Amino acid sequence: MRDKELYQQILGLGTPWSVSRVELNMDKQQVDVFAEHPARTTFCCPECEQPLGCYDHIPERQWRHLDSCQFKTILHARVPRVNCPEHGVKQVDVPWAEKSSRFTILFERFAIDVLLATQTVKGAMSILGTKWDQTWAIVQRAVARGKARKETKPLPHIGIDEKAFSKGHSYITLLYDLDNSTVEAISDGNDTDSGIACFSELSTEQVQSVKAIAMDMSAAYVKAAKHVFTLTEHMIVHDRFHVMQLATKAVDKVRRAEHRQLLQNDDDRLTKTKYIWIKSHENLTEKQQALFEDTYDLKLQTGKAWAYKEMLRDLWTQEDTASATNYFRDWYNRVIHTKLEPMKRVARTIKERLGNVVSYCKHRITNAVAEGINSKIMSIKRRVGGYRNQQNFKTAIFFYCGGLRLYPQ
Ligand SMILES: [Zn+2]
Repeated sequence: MRDKELYQQILGLGTPWSVSRVELNMDKQQVDVFAEHPARTTFCCPECEQPLGCYDHIPERQWRHLDSCQFKTILHARVPRVNCPEHGVKQVDVPWAEKSSRFTILFERFAIDVLLATQTVKGAMSILGTKWDQTWAIVQRAVARGKARKETKPLPHIGIDEKAFSKGHSYITLLYDLDNSTVEAISDGNDTDSGIACFSELSTEQVQSVKAIAMDMSAAYVKAAKHVFTLTEHMIVHDRFHVMQLATKAVDKVRRAEHRQLLQNDDDRLTKTKYIWIKSHENLTEKQQALFEDTYDLKLQTGKAWAYKEMLRDLWTQEDTASATNYFRDWYNRVIHTKLEPMKRVARTIKERLGNVVSYCKHRITNAVAEGINSKIMSIKRRVGGYRNQQNFKTAIFFYCGGLRLYPQ
């Protein structure tokens, strides 16, 4: 008798439901708990909540509950149906599980905790003893639940960025809320349509609430923003890290060309120096630092390009857009009179989009604010074995980075 009461408590069953029987199956290491309701109970229509008599029952169903010690615990019940004059024959809601879930609410809550803690579906599966599809169903339901509950809050600072999925062959576009570091929308691809698809997920009020958008310098997202927003010229901020990345790549191009040339004269002074020019100076090891100093003193073209790249960094420390513009013009004039072709190309590219580079000094946004999200997404991607397709990858991003309320009530 006591085990019935115990499980009644554990399962949190209230009227009209009670535990009728508990069976311990030693072979299967399983506890089977059977719930039932008295005859002539009234249930509510799930659509309109009208109280109605029980019409019939669907065949017995099972829900996995939290384990009882090491024993898998399965709740069994026959769910009643009502015949609503307005909505027809409907299966009633049961208090222990959400519709179409094969787990109790308490189990799903626990599964979400485990998924969040392990950060992987595979890791969670081994702890929960669930199958791949079942675990994904929990993730998908949690994301759907979170999205349905999501309020449309104002989004003054947003960012749009691409992420490669499966070794750079296919891309997805992500829309960030930079103030809350959450992913707000995801679309396939990385072209203008992908950008429009992401922006289109915002409500009219949200579109109107946007003050600034961080993005790389590619034309695709600029076009997409212009398609959706008015006054875009004042809103777009080209992400400083993307701009600096262009400059860093240019330094590397200078080094490669110079190295090739030097080698023709058996001069190997640039051998194995790639990283000292592209890594942040403060991240160099002591050995690399020494190598840097020796090589920099040689007054090679590469060192010169590196110095211009470093100088460019200060563009983003300027007080306002006017001084940033002046700073850039000075930098541009120096670079453009050198023979550093790759650097000159970068200078011209920035000049073309200068208004949306120096706009940083007004809005102070960068997609790197979403660094927390970025590293999360990268680690989600690294465990790519766990995400067999792009759809799962997207769902996982929403699960871990969407700022969603995932738990069932
Ligand atoms: Zn009804």
